[in-house]
Amino acid sequence: MTVITDALCPFCGCLCDDISVVVEDNKIVDVKNACKIGASKIRGHHRIKSPMIRDDKNSDFKEVSYDEAIDKAAQILAGSKRALLYGWASALCEAHKKGILLAEELGAVIDNTATVCHAPSALAIHEKGVPTATLGQIKNRADVVIFWGCNPVHSHPRHMGRYSVFPRGFFSGKGRRGRKIIVVDVRKTNTAGIADEYVEIQQGSDYLIISALRAILSGHEDVVPESVGGVARKDLLRIAAILKEAKFGTLFFGMGLTQSKSRYKNIDNAISLVTELNSFNKFIMMPMRGHYNVTGFGQVCTWETGFATAVDFSSGAPYYNPGETAANDLLYRKEVDAAMIIAGDAGAHFPANSVRELAKIPVVQVDPYWNPTTEVANVVIPSAISGVELEGTAYRMDGVSLRMRKMIEPEHLADEEILDRLIARVREIRGE
Ligand code: SF4
Repeated sequence: MTVITDALCPFCGCLCDDISVVVEDNKIVDVKNACKIGASKIRGHHRIKSPMIRDDKNSDFKEVSYDEAIDKAAQILAGSKRALLYGWASALCEAHKKGILLAEELGAVIDNTATVCHAPSALAIHEKGVPTATLGQIKNRADVVIFWGCNPVHSHPRHMGRYSVFPRGFFSGKGRRGRKIIVVDVRKTNTAGIADEYVEIQQGSDYLIISALRAILSGHEDVVPESVGGVARKDLLRIAAILKEAKFGTLFFGMGLTQSKSRYKNIDNAISLVTELNSFNKFIMMPMRGHYNVTGFGQVCTWETGFATAVDFSSGAPYYNPGETAANDLLYRKEVDAAMIIAGDAGAHFPANSVRELAKIPVVQVDPYWNPTTEVANVVIPSAISGVELEGTAYRMDGVSLRMRKMIEPEHLADEEILDRLIARVREIRGE
């Protein structure tokens, strides 16, 4: 029996680094410190056992060797004119680098799961920059914490316990008692249940509320009407006063802000609000990133191509224009003639029209788990679980890079090796 301590959890953007794992006969028999979803991920479930192929999406899969599956996948990708390589958020940075190389080789479009969550944040930050900090700074300093359009009680279960609400830090020795928690949302979530101030807003009115707070903070409260987005003016005045009096304020935001009406302009406006708050105090903001290494893909893609997501290599050079080159834009216009979905689940998270389109074209899936994408795949290549069966680099939601540990020996190929073999085979097929 081996006990591995200080391991990292490969599930959400918190990347908790205090996990203990008990290993017996190359099997994980116990997981300590992780939340329920993290522990279930580390133990593994619904694994794909063997590579599989089917010619017709209505027929059953046939189990094949890795060589056969990789050859078939390479034939599909090498024969495509406009391939989409999508997913990447549950893979390590080392695999991201290989994926970008494959996209360049194919002249494909590479996009990641941020396209249906925080890509609008990347767009706004790209244009405007962002005042931010590490989760460690927040734990040690934050006295006012806002959760806007996010529900960490369910999405990031240990976030509030480790970083943002309950922990005692160097300048936050009173823990929860020393922090004012504000939740802004369209419904009373479980996170709202523990807040000091719950601000219930009308669906799609985030931009208006942010603008009203900015007007109050800049001394123009007279232009704010009696009610904005369902929030009374007097409540907005009270919230603005709390923000102004903070010593170290933090705005965590989720898909309630990025994917509601006004999308990236909401983030743009929130960046302005937080920037302006810095004339009164220290205030920062941070996206609540979902998959454990979705932040890492943005980093690798940016240093490799100059852009964080939705990069089109069809002209031979990286081109980026979300709204035109993001995964769902291409599927909506029916441009894609083959797709590889890796370490992400388009079948579960894309709009129905996009999934219908994926069901019509050849799809290669690379993933440890059987999921809705498997149902639209022609070739399925099972991979080892990054951060459990493979070590490598991942980026926490605050942009801090951490080294994921290997806990047990894998029975399946690493996605990095699968990508290496795909690149080599694509080059052979294309005679390069
Ligand atoms: S909060 Fe996230 S990273 Fe931490 S144990 Fe739970 S799932 Fe894993």
